[in-house]
Amino acid sequence: MKQKPYFSNLKCRECGRLYPKEAIHICEFDFGPLEAAYDYEAIGKVLTRRVIESRPHSMWRYRELLPIDGEPTVGAQVGFTPLIRARRLAERLGVRELYIKNDTVNYPTLSFKDRVVSVALSRAKELGFTTVACASTGNLANSVAANAASAGLRSYVLIPADLEQGKVLGSLVYGTRVIGIHGAYDQVNRLCSEIAGKYGWGFVNVNLRPYYAEGSKTMGFEIAEQLGWKLPRHTVVCMASGSLLTKIHKAYHELEMLGLVDPSEISIHGAQATGCSPISAAMKRGTDMVKPEPKPDTIVKSLAIGTPADGYYAIHAMRETGGSCEDASDPEVIGGIRLLAETEGIFAETAGGVTVACAKKLIESGKLPRDESIVLCITGHGLKTQEAIIGKCGEPSLINPSLREFDALIANESPSASQP
Ligand SMILES: *Cc1c(COP(=O)(O)O)cnc(C)c1O
Ligand SMILES: [Zn+2]
Repeated sequence: MKQKPYFSNLKCRECGRLYPKEAIHICEFDFGPLEAAYDYEAIGKVLTRRVIESRPHSMWRYRELLPIDGEPTVGAQVGFTPLIRARRLAERLGVRELYIKNDTVNYPTLSFKDRVVSVALSRAKELGFTTVACASTGNLANSVAANAASAGLRSYVLIPADLEQGKVLGSLVYGTRVIGIHGAYDQVNRLCSEIAGKYGWGFVNVNLRPYYAEGSKTMGFEIAEQLGWKLPRHTVVCMASGSLLTKIHKAYHELEMLGLVDPSEISIHGAQATGCSPISAAMKRGTDMVKPEPKPDTIVKSLAIGTPADGYYAIHAMRETGGSCEDASDPEVIGGIRLLAETEGIFAETAGGVTVACAKKLIESGKLPRDESIVLCITGHGLKTQEAIIGKCGEPSLINPSLREFDALIANESPSASQP
């Protein structure tokens, strides 16, 4: 029996015009971004909590709400990362109910980008692409390279030439073609738009962007399910293009609409690195006009997008939900990485440091209330951005293999410094 098309069309976010489900991403009439549209009535008839819970623990348990026609063919194991109750971090931040959505352990490349790539490449195969590509600040490149390798697709990843070693090597190892561009991400992205038109490749975040973007919703679906089918009162999300934030908002809305969670008040808060904070700056100016940042200057390379494609929509998602936005300096980001590691045993990359540092500032300023539930979205693993904290977490104590030297070392340690 042929499956019903729950995913019905692409649709312009601005004028609502419908488009066929092809490798296109911009409305011809107003240049608005195209987004996946669904037959929610049909989905509502099949997608119950019980059905979802009976499925394997991956992001594909919400498959009716993802923009592919058949079964997923790439990344079937991606997602369903842990949501942990962060009691020790909560105590340090002075809040009552805090959770970490831990996408540092997403399969297979240790960032939330595996979610978007799994959808984009599954759709790319349905559309007949044999070569896929991306413009990336690092994590997307890693995920495209790995998932394309396991799917037998040819891949090209284009990145700013000055990325961290871990991100560069984490693409090269899969045998993908890695092209470093002398320039900032915005220039890489502009070049990719030209290449996509000329070479007919599937660019996951250019001509396949409507499919790619929907993958981010699964982070929101999982948070709600893992909280026992409840939405958190507050969600804090770090932003590069702003896409993840808008899609978590969309996910919560879809769950409410389908009756999978009870309607409840939610606020979505954004986090950026001060050295590239065009969305946060616009929020602080009280406008939705995002001024591009021509010269990003921050250790948080994964979030360094000067012209954020979804900035406008992210601002509206924050505003509509009564959320707020903050940005964190490089030293604050390092502090955030260390705080998360020391309290919860989670080693996040710089973007995770941004989320923790901005949440801390929002709590201190009263914009995140201390007595309401808060989820922090931690989106990538720290082993990929070691440069950011090398030399900033102390050094190992060096001794000879001698018990006497060990005794002397430990004798100098104050008892309060030892682990509880
Ligand atoms: C890409 C990325 C984000 C955010 O991306 P958006 O463009 O805002 O969707 C957040 N964290 C990490 C680690 C990323 O790689
Ligand atoms: Zn339009």
